[in-house]
Amino acid sequence: MQNKIILPDSSIPSAWYNALADLKNPPAPVIHPGTGKPVGPGDLLPLFPMGLIEQEVSSQRSVPIPDEVRKRYAMWRPTPLYRAFRLEEAIGTRSRIYYKYEGGNASGSHKLNTSIPQAFYNMQFGRKRIATETGAGQWGSAMAIAGSFFGLEVKVYMVKVSYKQKPYRRMLMETFGAGVVPSPSADTACGRAILAENPDSPGSLGIAISEAVEDAAGREDTSYALGSVLNHVLLHQTVIGQEAKEQMSIAGDYPDVVIGCHGGGSNFGGIALPFLQDKMAGGKRNPRLVAAEPASCPTLTKGVYAFDFGDTGKLTPIVKMFTLGHDFVPEGIHAGGLRYHGASPLISQLLSQGLIEAQAFAQLKVFSSSIAFARAEGMLPAPESAHAVHAAIAEAKNADAEGVEKTILFNLSGHGFFDMSAYDDFLAGKLADHEHSEEKVREALERLPKVVV
Ligand SMILES: *Cc1c(COP(=O)(O)O)cnc(C)c1O
Repeated sequence: MQNKIILPDSSIPSAWYNALADLKNPPAPVIHPGTGKPVGPGDLLPLFPMGLIEQEVSSQRSVPIPDEVRKRYAMWRPTPLYRAFRLEEAIGTRSRIYYKYEGGNASGSHKLNTSIPQAFYNMQFGRKRIATETGAGQWGSAMAIAGSFFGLEVKVYMVKVSYKQKPYRRMLMETFGAGVVPSPSADTACGRAILAENPDSPGSLGIAISEAVEDAAGREDTSYALGSVLNHVLLHQTVIGQEAKEQMSIAGDYPDVVIGCHGGGSNFGGIALPFLQDKMAGGKRNPRLVAAEPASCPTLTKGVYAFDFGDTGKLTPIVKMFTLGHDFVPEGIHAGGLRYHGASPLISQLLSQGLIEAQAFAQLKVFSSSIAFARAEGMLPAPESAHAVHAAIAEAKNADAEGVEKTILFNLSGHGFFDMSAYDDFLAGKLADHEHSEEKVREALERLPKVVV
């Protein structure tokens, strides 16, 4: 087989795959934080344009991709699928390892797949401005780039620790015209309240979300945008898995295991949901779908499946999801994009029904695997993507130990060129493993909202 499979522009999917259409049970209702009642489309209009609200609740299996979006996708899609021959040799496995590479675009990660349609639907709906948050800076970069494509002003609330640690991400966003402030900021009531209590607050994704939601809710020309978790975000990311299926079939192979790292669930959903479609069809194709998360933010492996807020300030709707509690503040590990307290309701439901699996890994092993991958394949994974790299290597080693041969596919969600300080710390022996304790989980869960449905 070839080292890589590159598809022509005509293979860019013409529709997104909506897994909600194939769920056996309807999704749990989304609850309004003020009234305690299920939210309707009207409640969401101050935050999102109608096109995205319709997608959020759609039960249509196949959602057409607008031409304007496909044209933008064509700037870097279809993305390549690689066979990791050199990695297989380096670890001496009998299994076949494939990876799809989503880092080959201006944002450096899969997130541009959704920021482009989000900007497009906002522009079409007449919104002029987007307020959003970013943790490590990948989502903010993707939104800044998409905003510049469609003529929208973008304001990014960037978690303060990352703002300080990752100046190049801020510069990238500013280069594409976005305004960036460290969060908590003095620009919102919620940011000012947190600063009054703790002027040195390092910030968190939950706090930054509160600020962006407050900003968007307070201005008619402004929408809020989220880079993961929501149904419409996972929907947009299904271009990854659809292309991968075509590429695997050209390779004459089919995965036994599909792996994606998991922060809020859009990257994992993007690669895994089109394979879930095969699984739900009940034929002989029944791949295992594995979400890989950090041991320090073990939402899927140690969290509970319960109703919780999406943010620390309790401004967002309450959704049923795996959660570590909305006031969870993670350790400062380097996989910033995987440090969210919650998970996508869709992925959470699939996990609760046993249709997908989750595994948690500590960061030292993850970095070792990432460096082994980089030296073999000549590509430097983002610290987030490195969790999938590690999970794939672990699958191959387990298969060897069992004396079986497996086909393993994972998504390399982004490159690590803006994360060199993380690799530097690892190589200098400055990184440590953190495990999130069961006790901290129990404490946080006492503060979950009470919801009656
Ligand atoms: C944001 C990010 C992730 C996590 O994505 P989710 O969709 O929230 O799970 C993974 N990898 C990279 C490179 C990212 O930027």
